[in-house]
Amino acid sequence: MFEALSSKLNGVFDRLRRRGALSEADVTEALREVRVALLEADVALPVVRDLVNKVRDRAVGQEVIRSVSPAQQVIKIVNDALVEALGGGEGDDGKRGIDLNAPSPVPILMVGLQGSGKTTTSGKIALRLRSRDKKKVLLASLDVHRPAAQLQLQTLAQQAEVTSLPIVAGQTPMQIAMRAMDVGRRELYDVVILDTAGRLAIDEALMEEVAQVKLATNPHETLLVVDAMTGQDAVNTAKAFQDKVGVTGIVMTRIDGDARGGAALSMRAVTGAPIKLLGAGEKLDALEDFHPDRIASRILGMGDIVSLVEKAAATIDQDEAEKLAARMQKGQFTLEDYASQLKQIGKMGSLQGILGMLPGVGKIKQQLSDANLDTSILKRQAAIISSMTPKERRLPDVIKASRKKRIAAGSGTSVQEVNKLLKQFDDMSAMMKRMNKLGQKGLMRGGLA
Ligand code: GDP
Repeated sequence: MFEALSSKLNGVFDRLRRRGALSEADVTEALREVRVALLEADVALPVVRDLVNKVRDRAVGQEVIRSVSPAQQVIKIVNDALVEALGGGEGDDGKRGIDLNAPSPVPILMVGLQGSGKTTTSGKIALRLRSRDKKKVLLASLDVHRPAAQLQLQTLAQQAEVTSLPIVAGQTPMQIAMRAMDVGRRELYDVVILDTAGRLAIDEALMEEVAQVKLATNPHETLLVVDAMTGQDAVNTAKAFQDKVGVTGIVMTRIDGDARGGAALSMRAVTGAPIKLLGAGEKLDALEDFHPDRIASRILGMGDIVSLVEKAAATIDQDEAEKLAARMQKGQFTLEDYASQLKQIGKMGSLQGILGMLPGVGKIKQQLSDANLDTSILKRQAAIISSMTPKERRLPDVIKASRKKRIAAGSGTSVQEVNKLLKQFDDMSAMMKRMNKLGQKGLMRGGLA
């Protein structure tokens, strides 16, 4: 799912990122393309409109984070809007995953159209609740319309190693439901999963049957199973179930197929119900939790940039960064400044994807990742610098062999490491001078990042 949408959006943002400074026209053009990509992915029109407007408003009102590029910031804004559309906004916490917070046995009602994957999903949920949550689960099929349905659920129950309600020929769905709840109570089950009958399309009789069972069993969760491959139809189905029966959550199946993903993005806005789980295959363990943030970053394929902007906004000291940038421009970058950069990086935790955003560090990022190093090298470098005298930090050329030994001893490192740092710093200074020249020619709009 999402492949096509993801590659379209990637294209849009790649073009955006190649521009250093963004004009309003750039953003407008990018948003136009985002809109087209969403519509092509089958996202419902009102949802697209809302999303694009949200992004535009925020992009305009956004305070510029100086340490990341404008394009990166726009990507972050789009990401946040996607997360919200997917149900990850504030107030949505706690609505994810199956809620079992009710007296046992907790009834879970499974509803949906025939072929949506309802029975399979019932088995998947049973397996998960038994194996992961250590619950005693009873599965019951209320499907008296399709002859093999009850047997299918029985087989799934065996695979999931949970009990299924014994089949009694001739019972109505309501009778089966009542019997299931009765067994659930008497035999101390934690959860009773009631798999209702599906129909090929929404019809009144189906809705009525489901509504009655719901009334009688008072399920704690009513989960609607929809097939992601059916696109907008899945959304319409969900809307109908929501209006007529009322659901507490949605399970979207067949996300392992090449569904365009629009349904997932529209579901929350159109039905008001959160997607709680995803079915990602025919096997019983192919059940995933639904994480709006992870899905958004799967769609954008730019999770690293998003977390980068978040971290930068949270930890980079803007004034400090400004001062550094100014000193670089003037060719006054010293080891002290480098040490201060190292400190900022340290505060941000993981190295990956972070070094490149600090002006001028792009090249050592390469060296660092070549050597497959972790943050410990930064700590060692910071220690080396702090073992120098202030003068040495400003004018590292004065550091002679004897001092290198002392500095190495003082920082608990080796002379080689001291040399390496000095060499690196030399390279950086040379590179900055070159970049400044380019910058003055106007080739580096948008700074060095
Ligand atoms: P029901 O009529 O809604 O109960 O649907 P079933 O549970 O019988 O599923 C119909 C078919 O879809 C079966 O062949 C399942 O194996 C398959 N299926 C269910 N969920 C998924 C899924 O998440 N991915 C894939 N690829 N197939 C699924």
